[in-house]
Amino acid sequence: MNRGLIFDIRRYSVHDGPGIRTTVFLKGCPLSCAWCHNPEGLVDRPQTIRRERTLNGRTSYHDEIVGKYLLPGEVMESILRDRIFFEESGGGVTFSGGEPLMQPDFLLETLSLCRDEGIHTALDTSGHVVNSVFTEAARNTGLLLFDIKTADTGIHRQYTGHGNELVLGNLASVAGTGTPVIARIPLIPGVNDDNSSMEAIRDLLKEVKAAVIRVDLLPWHRLGRNKYVSLGMRPPPLFEQETGSEQMKAATEIFTGAGFRVKKGG
Ligand code: SF4
Repeated sequence: MNRGLIFDIRRYSVHDGPGIRTTVFLKGCPLSCAWCHNPEGLVDRPQTIRRERTLNGRTSYHDEIVGKYLLPGEVMESILRDRIFFEESGGGVTFSGGEPLMQPDFLLETLSLCRDEGIHTALDTSGHVVNSVFTEAARNTGLLLFDIKTADTGIHRQYTGHGNELVLGNLASVAGTGTPVIARIPLIPGVNDDNSSMEAIRDLLKEVKAAVIRVDLLPWHRLGRNKYVSLGMRPPPLFEQETGSEQMKAATEIFTGAGFRVKKGG
């Protein structure tokens, strides 16, 4: 039985691919990015989260378990509830995380069930997985949302815990899978938001330009840090400032200048 460890199934999402989507968040990630907004996705086991509730001026706390093991068929029950919205909006299902490719058996089986139902799928991946797993999943999904953080392996290692060799190898292989790619680039102040870092990523994307249908530039913000504390995890250090509009503008020009379609934000 290919059970998946899921920490959320979010309906009516409009930021995770075309149309209205249901996003399935899988738990567990091989990276630990210093800017991660989804700490529930980092650890590959269920966790306890402390929730705060304020009612009539009184604050109370209760514990909840984050992360549930579900079969592909059980996830499909949630997905199929929104089929009408997918059909009317050109939407579908997005698998995100965490890193969904850390649970390849569950993912491939669920992708196959979606295909049988005629539902469009997208896969939001860090690309930090072995190439055989990546290419099989890429061939079986309708769209890749591929995160590119930096072209510099030393900076990648410093801020995510691993170098970027697997990511770059998988990026190079997307053309062979025939699956369109939206490249998602977080702009992190002082890490990769300077022009030369963006130009280096642009040059990587030029190598696979035929597959890249859009580049999404994602500004960093401070949201999500209190979730680390609620999970009993230590939040990563803050960056000094949020991503500025000047950096967003400069990055946009770098990618549009190379002929890429650019969207600011997810
Ligand atoms: S790859 Fe994504 S989910 Fe994993 S740590 Fe980085 S930002 Fe978080």
